[in-house]
Amino acid sequence: MQNARNLLQKYYGYADFRPGQAEIIASLINGTDTLAVMPTGAGKSLCYQLPALLLPGTAIVISPLISLMKDQLDALSGAGIPAAYINSSLTGAAVNERLYNTRAGRYKLLYVAPERLESAYFREAIQTVAISLLAVDEAHCISQWGHDFRPSYRAVGPFIDSLAARPVIGAFTATATAHVKQDIIDLLGLKKPATYYTGVDRANLSFAVSRGENKKDFVLKYVAANKDKAGIIYAATRKEVDNLYAVLRKTGQPVGKYHAGLGDDERRQSQEAFIRDDINIMIATNAFGMGIDKPDVRYVIHYNMPKNMESYYQEAGRAGRDGDPGECILLFGAQDIQLQKFLIDQSVLDSERKAGEFAKLKAMVDYCHTPACLRRYILDYFGEQAAAGECGNCGNCNDGNDLADITAEAQKVLSCTVRLKERYGINLIADVLKGARNKKVLQLGADRLPVYGLLQEYGLQDLKDLINRLIATGYLGLTDSEYPVVKLTALGAAVLKNEAKVWQKTPKRPQPAAQDDALFQQLRALRKSIADSLGVPPYVIFADTTLKEMCAYRPTDRQALRSIKGVGESKLARYGDDFLHIIRQYCSEHNPPPRPAPPAPATSDAAGDDTPSHVATLRLYQAGHPLAAIAARRSLTLLTVQDHLMRCSREGHEIDWSALIPARYEALILAKIDELGASRLKPLKDALPDAVDYAAIKATICKHRKNLLRPGGQ
Ligand code: ADP
Ligand code: MG
Repeated sequence: MQNARNLLQKYYGYADFRPGQAEIIASLINGTDTLAVMPTGAGKSLCYQLPALLLPGTAIVISPLISLMKDQLDALSGAGIPAAYINSSLTGAAVNERLYNTRAGRYKLLYVAPERLESAYFREAIQTVAISLLAVDEAHCISQWGHDFRPSYRAVGPFIDSLAARPVIGAFTATATAHVKQDIIDLLGLKKPATYYTGVDRANLSFAVSRGENKKDFVLKYVAANKDKAGIIYAATRKEVDNLYAVLRKTGQPVGKYHAGLGDDERRQSQEAFIRDDINIMIATNAFGMGIDKPDVRYVIHYNMPKNMESYYQEAGRAGRDGDPGECILLFGAQDIQLQKFLIDQSVLDSERKAGEFAKLKAMVDYCHTPACLRRYILDYFGEQAAAGECGNCGNCNDGNDLADITAEAQKVLSCTVRLKERYGINLIADVLKGARNKKVLQLGADRLPVYGLLQEYGLQDLKDLINRLIATGYLGLTDSEYPVVKLTALGAAVLKNEAKVWQKTPKRPQPAAQDDALFQQLRALRKSIADSLGVPPYVIFADTTLKEMCAYRPTDRQALRSIKGVGESKLARYGDDFLHIIRQYCSEHNPPPRPAPPAPATSDAAGDDTPSHVATLRLYQAGHPLAAIAARRSLTLLTVQDHLMRCSREGHEIDWSALIPARYEALILAKIDELGASRLKPLKDALPDAVDYAAIKATICKHRKNLLRPGGQ
């Protein structure tokens, strides 16, 4: 495996394998058929590309999407790996040329679409090729039970049987259901396969659900606060996509849209613009995304609840493939349930399958309402044991402090619903509470009701939001009819009788992100111009994570640049000098304090196999590495790195707090802790300037905990 590790550094510029990769690669090299189930972004491609490099001959890779083959190939050629693809986008002459090169042994990998395997001409042409490995990517496409059944995948099994010498076979998927796994094994004819399963958890993704939020408002604020980040916003219908697109266009944001109602060309252009960083917000239906390999999507917002957890996790999972933090937010509205019910009802499924779909929908709705840890809910749903405790990285784990008692307002809304005899919709209830004098209110004589104008100090939209939240949290119900009518639920009735209280989270408003590093923006601009001149997506040049490491370490010579994660030999030779030029220029203009050299690539950063992870973090920190760089290098979130240091402190290690606590705020933070206590973070955060983040508050508490625990020094 040392060989594999060397190639990992040489071609990809990575020092370490991700979980599962080394084992899967070893299994394939040993000639064992292998089924690898790894979540999106876990790094499946490398698991067949490295064996292809190590084994003699050419690996054949079956890949479902023609549109993605080119990007994959651009990435491989960027890394200096000889490879090609054959699909229907090529002319006959181009296909022949590639077949000729394949027979001459010029490629380590040949990507083909499954349809190609049925061509007698193709089968004939590769009879003499030494096939090192047959890799079936997105292998779940072979199963009817999967979510992306492609009949053409059924050609793979017979193709394997037709080969004179059977190569070792690797099958790769993110779908883990037993049905699908068995189908893959049976239909590909895997022989005594080794199965690897790395789990479905994506530690770098944070999950949040917002119920009854004013969605449009939320999205507008969110994208304004996250201007430079790439994100996808999924909506349930084409119409909703069109509307939201129009709204965001008006703000001048670089935004695109994608749904099945657009022409092929329009869709392709839109997808391309997103992948190439020409636009950074994509508003789409679920038609968008299958196989989108863009690694630096930083958020996925669901404007509507999807039909089941499988769809949700797959779509949300398109965030953060590069291992950096990704935010997954679901904006739940009660109308979403009606729409999904309607779609299932209208579908052509038989009644048994329909019942199954309704059950899945119910689990999805439950996800939107659970007060418990969302990550745990997801892992439970997919049948996986979650680690003990809460994840600390989802809306429910983080927001516990934001609860407010809104029983009084809620009672007014509930009472108004009852006074209107549970016969009207959200708008009328809001009008009556606001004290509006429109035609409908006056016609009904609602202005003579005792509840009229009871919440007139609220904005009309705020009232609608409040009603929506009460619906979403089960105090009110909404009928399935064409014009949904608001009804009182048993829970709501209990509140009216003062038998229950209404506690609600004040919706978390997106905060503008900290100003991005100027150097990072310069490196991005350089990357974009190189990518455009070569006609490839920017991430093919360098991933965001690589640019961030460059900012953290500011290497100024080739040797130091080689140590940056994601800089392999081929990219170093091709682009190294251009990037070094920008970094040197930046350093001479800004004269920033010197940075330590990045750890040499050959030595892994884990200080030794039995060093606990948090202590390994501390060692790197003590060696002078910036927190962001430690996070990137160790594939951890910044939050985890910060927590590691605090844990080390609690265990008695000496910590230099300067990277966590801004010196000029420390006294102020302490003063506020004195005033408000240290048991709840949220009031402290609210009372301090925006520049003081949660980490700074937690670190201050940790640093001074002895004095805080024993006031008066007893
Ligand atoms: P998958 O096919 O499993 O969804 P990919 O193969 O597309 O994932 O890889 C996702 C991202 O992870 C890519 O940007 C890839 O370069 C990166 N990656 C893969 N393996 C490693 C590794 N060992 N270290 C760092 N990054 C990696
Ligand atoms: Mg993949």
